[in-house]
Amino acid sequence: MIYLDYAATAPLDEEVFQAMTPYLKENFGNPDSAHAAGRAAANAVAKARATIAEILGVTPLEVYFTSGGTEADNWAVRYLAKGNAAVSSVEHAAVLEGAKLREEGCSPIPTTRGGLVTADAVLSALTPRTGLVCVMAANNETGTIQPLEEISKLCKERNLTLFSDCVQAAGFLDLKKIATHCDAIALSGHKIYGPKGVGALVVKKGVALRPMIAGGEQERSLRGGTLNVSGIVGFAKALEKAQADRIRNAERVRALRDAFEREVTTVFGKSVTIDGENRLPNISHLTFETAPDALLAKLDLKGLCVSGGAACSSRSALPSHVMLAMGRTREEAKRGVRFSFGKETTEEEVERAVVVLKECIL
Ligand code: PLP
Repeated sequence: MIYLDYAATAPLDEEVFQAMTPYLKENFGNPDSAHAAGRAAANAVAKARATIAEILGVTPLEVYFTSGGTEADNWAVRYLAKGNAAVSSVEHAAVLEGAKLREEGCSPIPTTRGGLVTADAVLSALTPRTGLVCVMAANNETGTIQPLEEISKLCKERNLTLFSDCVQAAGFLDLKKIATHCDAIALSGHKIYGPKGVGALVVKKGVALRPMIAGGEQERSLRGGTLNVSGIVGFAKALEKAQADRIRNAERVRALRDAFEREVTTVFGKSVTIDGENRLPNISHLTFETAPDALLAKLDLKGLCVSGGAACSSRSALPSHVMLAMGRTREEAKRGVRFSFGKETTEEEVERAVVVLKECIL
C-alpha cells in the first residue's frame, strides 16, 4: 500500500503514543473529580493546556478543548461574535455547513482561480451586518495559504472578529504568528500525527463566545463533557513536535512533492493541471483532462491511497466545492485528485505512484 493521503489523516507518532498511554489505563481519573486520581488527570490536562498556550503565544484560559477540528469550526462559526459571518467559499465543510446554522446568517467570500482569498475579496463581501470573518490559514484540498496578515488588518480596522481554521496549517506554518493575526483559531490532533477525536478552539480574551455544548462546568462552563485526557495529552505532544519540526518536515515533503509534480508533468504534459497557488509543501491537487470513471477506486485497487478532494467527501459523487469556487466546471471539479505527502513518504513511493497513475489513466 502506498499512502499519499496525509492531509486526510496521519498515523500516530510513537512519542505521542507513549505520552498518551498512561492516561488510558493507570491514570484513568476524571479531571473534574476532587480526589487524587482526578487531580492526576487534571494536572495532565493543565500541563497540556499550558504547552499549547505557550506554542501559540496565548494564555491557557484562551484554549478550549474540543472533539476535533469539526467541533471547533462549528463552535466558532455558529457562536463566536455577533452579526452575519463572511465565510470564504473554499472553507472545509465543517465551517461552511456550520455557518449555515448561524442564527444571524452567513455570506460567501469569493476566491481567485488559484484558490486565494484576497483582502479585497473579503472587503467586497462585508456588509454593515458583518460581525465575523472566517478564512482558513491553508486549504485542505489545494494547500493554498491565505493572506491572513492583510485580512487581519482590515478586520481590526473595522472591529470585526477574525476566525481561522488552522487544521491543515499546523504542521507547516508558524502558528504563533498566525495566532497574533486572529481572534480565534481551530486545531485538530490527527493531521499532525496526534490522536483522532481531539482538537481545540482558541479564542482570545475579550472575544464574545457562546456555548455550543451544554453540560457540566468543563472548559469555563462553555463546553460541557468529560475531557478526553489521553487525547489532550497526545494532542499537546503532537502540536509541540509539529511546530518544533515544521521547517525540517516542510523541506522534506516539499522535495518529494516537487519531484512528484515534475514527474507527473513529464508523463501527462498539458493534460494535467496542478491546482492552487501559494501552497503548503505537502499537497498536490491535480486535475486530469481525461480521467476514467471511478479513478480513485482504480488507484485504490493498485494500492494507492489518495483522495478526490477532501477525504470526508471522497465517497460523494458531487464535484468538489473548492474546485467550483475556484471557477472550475462541474465536470472538471469531479476530475481532481489530491495527493498529500507525509513524514513516512519515501522517494520510491512517489515514483511508484506516478507509475500507477500512468497505468490507470493513459
Ligand atoms: N478543517 C480542515 C481544514 C480539515 O482538513 C479538517 C479535516 O479534514 C477539519 C477541519 C475537520 O477536522 P476533524 O477531522 O478533526 O474533525
